[in-house]
Amino acid sequence: MYDVIIIGAGPAGLTAGIYASRAKLKTLIIEKSMEGGQIVNTMDVENYPGINDGETGMELAMRMTEQTKKFGAEFVTDEVTGVSLEGKEKVITCANGEYRGKTVIIGTGAKSREIGVPGEEEFKSKGISYCATCDAAFYQDSDVYVIGGGDAAVEEALFIAKFAKNVFVVHRRDELRAAKSIQEKAFANDKIHFIWDTVTEEIIGDKVVEGIVLKNVKTGEITTHKSTTDIPSIGIFVYIGYIPQTQLYENVLELEKGYIVTDENMKTNVEGVFAIGDTRAKAVRQVVTAVADGCIAAIQAEKYIENLE
Ligand code: NAP
Repeated sequence: MYDVIIIGAGPAGLTAGIYASRAKLKTLIIEKSMEGGQIVNTMDVENYPGINDGETGMELAMRMTEQTKKFGAEFVTDEVTGVSLEGKEKVITCANGEYRGKTVIIGTGAKSREIGVPGEEEFKSKGISYCATCDAAFYQDSDVYVIGGGDAAVEEALFIAKFAKNVFVVHRRDELRAAKSIQEKAFANDKIHFIWDTVTEEIIGDKVVEGIVLKNVKTGEITTHKSTTDIPSIGIFVYIGYIPQTQLYENVLELEKGYIVTDENMKTNVEGVFAIGDTRAKAVRQVVTAVADGCIAAIQAEKYIENLE
């Protein structure tokens, strides 16, 4: 019987793990893939306080994980397939076992939203990517299209511009959602060009992506864009937001547009169950807000357990 079971080892879950295990609570962290969450796909986390100059998201994630292990939190690699959250004993069923805990903290984050156009499925990893950190280097001196207009799209366009010859940011409106500071850097970069009021219709190619069909939403004009460089293939990076990983909780917890509703103490509508990070309904999704959520949830879990006994 664990005191705290944390589902998801992103910055939010790892921080909950640090606080819970440091408070001598028997703590288990369940993660289905690698620790670190979305920041492992980010080259620059320059707005996280105390980050080392030039430190990548992956490196930060590894430091956070080591820190969490130092305090004694147990880690297991497994996928949660079912939950029973009501009552004093919570049961978390995984592909390879079952775990019981007095409290559960859900920090399962979110996964990349897909465009949903013909060619997207076919060319995944053959020219379409959702991770610039992983794949930008493959597009040295090539043309690259970045879909989206938020912080992630524009920040990753800046990173991709270190490799690509041209980066075309395709945005469905004529104004970016990204923070002004990020916008300014992109507007000042000669390699980055903007295609406004435009959506993707299709991704085309033979074995790899060779073109992208775009539609101007104001004029209805459809254009096919192919490489303008000596390299015939092009790259497409999709950054159009994320979908919260909350399917398992649909009939159990209160959700708002797929995100778990909590109060300011990270409490959900079920006693002893907390939600943190990008999984929960909130306005600002940053590493720094995720770690704050993790801290609050662990402290509140400790209080809940004290009152149980
Ligand atoms: P986001 O802020 O939700 O932006 C998504 C972008 O994609 C928007 O520009 C949106 O257009 C566009 N979009 C959404 N659905 C689309 C579709 N079906 N077709 C075409 N375009 C579509 O997502 P994000 O940029 O991934 O950021 C997620 C969260 O992480 C945000 O809270 C963000 O602040 C945070 N973040 C922060 C940093 C940083 O501070 N350094 C870096 C990365 C991410 P509209 O603008 O028209 O809605």
